[in-house]
Amino acid sequence: MTAPAKISPAALARLSKLGIHHRSELLLHLPLRYEDETHLAPITTVQPGETVQVQGTITHAEITFRPRRTLVCRLQDAGGELYLRFLNFYPSQQKQLAVDSQIRAIGEIRMGYYGLEMVHPKCRAVDIDTPLQTSLTPVYPTTAGLSQVALRKLIANALEVLPIPEHLPKSVFDRLKLADFAESLRLLHSPTADISAHSLANRSHPAWQRIKFDELLAQQLSMRVHHRERSQRTAPALPPRKHHTDALLKNLPFALTKAQRKVCGEIGGDLAKPHPMQRLLLGDVGSGKTVVAALAALQAIENGYQVALMAPTEILAEQHFLKLSEWLAPLGITPVWLSGSLKKKDKKLAAEKIASGETLLAIGTHALFQEQISFHKLGLAIVDEQHKFGVQQRLALHAKGKHSTAVRGEPVEPQAPPSHPLRQAQGERPEEQAKIQEPHQLMMSATPIPRTLAMSYYADLDVSVIDELPPGRTPVITKLVSDTRRDEVFERVRAGCIGGQQAYWVCPLIDESEVLQLQNALETHQLLTDTFPELRIGLVHGKMDSAEKVRVMTAFKAGELQLLVATTVIEVGVDVPNASLMVIDHAERMGLAQLHQLRGRVGRGSAQSLCILLYQKPLSELARTRLKVIFENTDGFAIAQEDLQLRGPGELLGARQSGVAMLRFADIDADEDLLEQARGVADELLHDYPEAARAYLQRWMAKKHDYLHV
Ligand code: ADP
Ligand code: MG
Repeated sequence: MTAPAKISPAALARLSKLGIHHRSELLLHLPLRYEDETHLAPITTVQPGETVQVQGTITHAEITFRPRRTLVCRLQDAGGELYLRFLNFYPSQQKQLAVDSQIRAIGEIRMGYYGLEMVHPKCRAVDIDTPLQTSLTPVYPTTAGLSQVALRKLIANALEVLPIPEHLPKSVFDRLKLADFAESLRLLHSPTADISAHSLANRSHPAWQRIKFDELLAQQLSMRVHHRERSQRTAPALPPRKHHTDALLKNLPFALTKAQRKVCGEIGGDLAKPHPMQRLLLGDVGSGKTVVAALAALQAIENGYQVALMAPTEILAEQHFLKLSEWLAPLGITPVWLSGSLKKKDKKLAAEKIASGETLLAIGTHALFQEQISFHKLGLAIVDEQHKFGVQQRLALHAKGKHSTAVRGEPVEPQAPPSHPLRQAQGERPEEQAKIQEPHQLMMSATPIPRTLAMSYYADLDVSVIDELPPGRTPVITKLVSDTRRDEVFERVRAGCIGGQQAYWVCPLIDESEVLQLQNALETHQLLTDTFPELRIGLVHGKMDSAEKVRVMTAFKAGELQLLVATTVIEVGVDVPNASLMVIDHAERMGLAQLHQLRGRVGRGSAQSLCILLYQKPLSELARTRLKVIFENTDGFAIAQEDLQLRGPGELLGARQSGVAMLRFADIDADEDLLEQARGVADELLHDYPEAARAYLQRWMAKKHDYLHV
């Protein structure tokens, strides 16, 4: 019997870089591709572009010095010859490739100076009759210092020494007609030469289907277990008392839309329960999420609990602060403001009000969740534009609530470890968790989640959707204009402003460089001011101090400024209903979600709005597609769907991006059928075969679990 291979500490460190912490995880480290060393190609038959294995005798070898030191060898078989070229080589290689050696070489054929050649082929000295491989050679994802050969050996050893049980219950396995798990793994690690290379490369082979199904099933299980576990944790019950909420509704200058009423009902129902809500409120740009957030906040406040409202940019947080202050003043509620740029003294003052419980509503940026801030009795945390926040910030928020609501006098660990769904299944006593109260969480986003994403990565959250816009909006007209017609655009802006319109001029993103972006905004502002001395033009950017920012935004809102030059700081949330003209400079540099958000700053009033996308040629294929999509669609959902196609789920996931265990093998769009199937089976396992469910989570998620749900 084979013994488990010894793994050196150095190799262990490298394996952990690949996310492999346990021997069994080697099994799921699957090849990126394969090399075919199962047969030899006669040199007369090879074509440039092919990757082939050839064998022959070295008939010539020399080191040339032009253009640089290169080892060139001629390899000859029965029918033809080709050249092997090495720009970097060791003396040992030179020795191996001496004249008369018998060599097997594998590499890509190119047309070179002397004729057919391979550059840096993989070479091995052989005898005429050295047997060929019987299966394809796997090429694994690896990291510096860990060779393919070493990794192959470790994986082959793991396949030999570890048991690979079938976790699907027999009845389910028989019904699904999927390939056997262990056989699928073995096949993918060393497929025989007769297997279609295409079905391996595009992962349509039954063995791949099985692995992808299992991965999706494990993800579904994990999401569901988490969801279920949440209903065993506790949060303050905050039933609707219709005191403050009714007062706000009465004072509003508009009536809620049907969709707003529906989501308010869903949120209100969750808050009333003694378990933490984790709800995502989705609504397209301008659909009116702020007032829904305000109503949720009031329901918590009516129950004597504190609320934190956090926004990703200072401008947006400030705007919420002003709006809510105005709405809540008649109810005798004064929110407190907290942001990183606040003076030390003021920050301390705000922190005291939050800690003492004197203030019931705190509004600000992520500064709200920094260490120094501790809430007296946090009942609800609202995160606007949640996709803009990083996973660390969400972790902080999570921890904050737990501390603050811990029942006094109870021995609560200061750093309660993230709860682990497996623990519940392993029989941890629920009372141990019941001592910790968590705040409810409401996350808001204008980036709709396409169906397949909702079914997979977001399956643990509850989702509410505002699917209609307030009445009286006129859709924004979008125009694509080449940079060569910049003068006409200037003229259009001038005419609009003179005619009483208010306009935004959004400056381009510059290679993610804030300094250049700032410089560009300053220059654009200068240029526009010089060109149109008759217009009142303001400037807002991320590096301004907050008092200055507020001053400019307030002036724009009040109509004192006609044109606002801005960086993408205005991307999210900014609400100035009278603005009806927007120019987005270098629109080709921006992503779809960003363009949609920016465009959503206009079209908020009843006037007809216009959005001009100024672009510069030449356009990349991707940029062209993006501009076409944004030109043709106004519906955020359709745009998000296109975005998913263009970028893959990784980036769309936003805040979850770095936290969620990404699917390694399955593709939620291409494998939608498997995803559907996995959903059904997940329910079945949890209900009828909890042992199997646990085994799946252990196999696929053991390490990633803690990170999954922040
Ligand atoms: P978003 O969903 O993009 O955050 P906001 O909450 O900023 O949207 O709302 C956009 C604008 O619509 C605001 O000026 C808001 O006061 C207004 N609004 C919200 N709900 C309604 C409604 N039911 N009827 C009319 N106007 C509304
Ligand atoms: Mg908003």
